[in-house]
Amino acid sequence: MSYTLFCNNCGCEVDENTLTCGHCGSRNVFCKFDLSKRKNFYKDAIKQAKTFMDYQPLLPISENHIVSLGEGNTPLVRMTSLESKLGSGKLYVKNEGQNPTGTFKDRCMAVAYSKALELHAKATVLGSAGNAGAAAAAYSAKSGIPCFLFVPGNTALERIAQSIAYGAHVLMLDGGGVTECIDLINEMYHELGWMNVTTARVCNPFQGESEKTIAYEIAKALDYKAPDFVIVPIGGGGCLSGVSKGFKELFELGLIDKRPHMIGAEESGCAPLTEAFEAGRAPDEITRVKTPQGIACPIMDAYPMDGETALKAIYETSGISVAVSSQKLREAKLLLSSQEGIFAEIASSATIAVMQNLIGKGIIKKNDTVVCVVTGNGLKDSKIVLDSAPKPYHVDNDVQAVKEVVSSLQPK
Ligand SMILES: *Cc1c(COP(=O)(O)O)cnc(C)c1O
Ligand SMILES: [Zn+2]
Repeated sequence: MSYTLFCNNCGCEVDENTLTCGHCGSRNVFCKFDLSKRKNFYKDAIKQAKTFMDYQPLLPISENHIVSLGEGNTPLVRMTSLESKLGSGKLYVKNEGQNPTGTFKDRCMAVAYSKALELHAKATVLGSAGNAGAAAAAYSAKSGIPCFLFVPGNTALERIAQSIAYGAHVLMLDGGGVTECIDLINEMYHELGWMNVTTARVCNPFQGESEKTIAYEIAKALDYKAPDFVIVPIGGGGCLSGVSKGFKELFELGLIDKRPHMIGAEESGCAPLTEAFEAGRAPDEITRVKTPQGIACPIMDAYPMDGETALKAIYETSGISVAVSSQKLREAKLLLSSQEGIFAEIASSATIAVMQNLIGKGIIKKNDTVVCVVTGNGLKDSKIVLDSAPKPYHVDNDVQAVKEVVSSLQPK
């Protein structure tokens, strides 16, 4: 086995069957991989991987217990049109919207449910505002392990339709947000013999290793030339932490010769990491946003549960955290779809808005290679487009009428 579990509180080794520190009782546990002993083995595993599950030796799962829906292995797409529009270097989208349920959360759940199978979990449980719930529900269906999904009482039904379709037991917590859902789960899951698959490392340390494969895939697609900047939206901060960890491992294995600057993208109305970054605070001094506001639900975490590791990764790589307005998010969403043919969820279009911001400030330079991790598919919140996009044309059922309308349209 290539990894060991440790207690984040006292540093003791932790048994993965209990996920509870035998010394201090803490359930704040993390996975530690030692890649240094079999460097060539891991290098080859990464280089030869063709699918997400080919990275199994670098993930905390067993090859005999695999739950997969064909996640990962998403395309790295060059933004040729935006390059000429913005007059800047090599700009790429890592399109995580092409995952089975439409977001990178499928990587998390492929690992979480493979582990749940291995550890004989009776059921799984999580708190989510939407995307993690949909992914969990799908992998629950595939694995046959039941899923109890707690969502805030005010969640729009369209955000949980996917979870219902996959057969999850959806419980709406009246008067509570995601944080309250997670607190409630923490009080009960252990006793019930359930596995907590909430996508924060303190809830499930295994899934927290999944996002590093995003970095492996980016590096492979760029022929192991590390990008200069990698921009990731921050909700809980798990995705940015994971992607950063992936690049760190690639660097330590000697597959790339530098680590990219990690850039966090938030929405102004809920930007706890950017606030801490701008105030120059330490990673463990992130404060909770009192009244989160905005339109990007998946990144509206009042307190980012993986914020400490995310901010550490930003500091370590001389990165930045940037917050952008709701209006900039809307514009970036339409810019990406209309110029590049990539329909991103509003939370993901934050990466494009932040990229524009950093190009404008001259921080991203002409020759830099930039990767925007587009975490989710625009079909998840397609309604948002209708607020700002051009309206469709109404025409009479008549060739002449259609011709008149068409001639009034400007070529793109
Ligand atoms: C979950 C999610 C995020 C935020 O990821 P964290 O790991 O919580 O920071 C961003 N975008 C989309 C589409 C998501 O589903
Ligand atoms: Zn401990």
